[in-house]
Amino acid sequence: MQKSILIIGACGQIGTELTLALRELYGQECVIASDIREGSDNLMNSGPFELLDATNYEAVEDVILYHEIEEVYLMAAMLSATAEKFPERAWNLNMNSLFNVLNLAKEKKINKIFWPSSIAVFGPNSPKENTPQNTIMEPSTVYGISKQSGERWCEYYHRKFDVDVRSLRYPGLISWKTSPGGGTTDYAVEIYHEALSKGEYQCFLKENTKLPMMFMDDAIRAAIELMDCDIDKIKVRSSYNLASMSFSPSEIYESIKEHLPDFTISYLPDFRQNIADSWPSSIDDSKAREDWNWGPEFDLTRTTDEMIEQLSKN
Ligand code: NAD
Repeated sequence: MQKSILIIGACGQIGTELTLALRELYGQECVIASDIREGSDNLMNSGPFELLDATNYEAVEDVILYHEIEEVYLMAAMLSATAEKFPERAWNLNMNSLFNVLNLAKEKKINKIFWPSSIAVFGPNSPKENTPQNTIMEPSTVYGISKQSGERWCEYYHRKFDVDVRSLRYPGLISWKTSPGGGTTDYAVEIYHEALSKGEYQCFLKENTKLPMMFMDDAIRAAIELMDCDIDKIKVRSSYNLASMSFSPSEIYESIKEHLPDFTISYLPDFRQNIADSWPSSIDDSKAREDWNWGPEFDLTRTTDEMIEQLSKN
């Protein structure tokens, strides 16, 4: 199937792997990567790239018209930990970039949008275990407030203007190709790097802080499956809960020790502990499973096997 796709924020942790996966599926020339900075060599050398600021409506429109783009994956955002340091910048980037693509879809200049939300839409008053699709939310972080507002706007644009926008509430994502970009779950990537390079890791969260997580391959597959699924199957137009595994720093430490028995860990919680404490420990994603047949493939053991194998090669 031929279709032209634009990824905005393509050089980040998710965007890099998403771009490579979409190019594999739809062909290099059909998938345009864009960002405000250049990315890794494998991203830059695998197909077309545009320098593009997601907050500049005219610039985004120009790229969309020039490349005759049909679908946009909007990955540009400021993540949870960084957003607590720069609240207004986070709000402006996270909201204005979304409005730009929603308005371009409202004007029928693009057909479909993928926009990731996050488990950060939940807050301290949400049920912590098996957090349902629909429940009390009340996010307490700048990032979570921007994601919850984004979800409301997505649903509104769908209902009022028939915009086909699709969304997932990603948990923390674990990957080896690209480093994470300033989130609260970044420890679950750093720990593998430091286990291999130093044999020790100082964790910025407490040992029993259990959070929902996912391996990047599952996250990319979920986005592509959601975007490709029949429009009638999509019943949630805010954002779908999405889950695969939940673990604490001490549990990921134990799984790495299976490969590296001398690995040691210490704990020095910082401001990110408060953010993590406000989030769910596990997520009920039954709606995604029912509506479009979602199912994860990576648990913690398989994730650790893959991370250690791939990072050891590099
Ligand atoms: P990232 O920080 O790694 O990447 C974001 C990219 O956006 C960067 O390459 C950055 O240069 C680019 N960018 C920043 N400002 C821009 C602008 N004005 N115009 C164009 N590009 C700009 O983030 P990520 O982890 O890849 O996350 C992508 C999306 O997924 C975000 O919406 C994020 O909130 C969401 N998400 C990520 C995770 C995770 O664990 N990584 C979890 C939940 C949700």
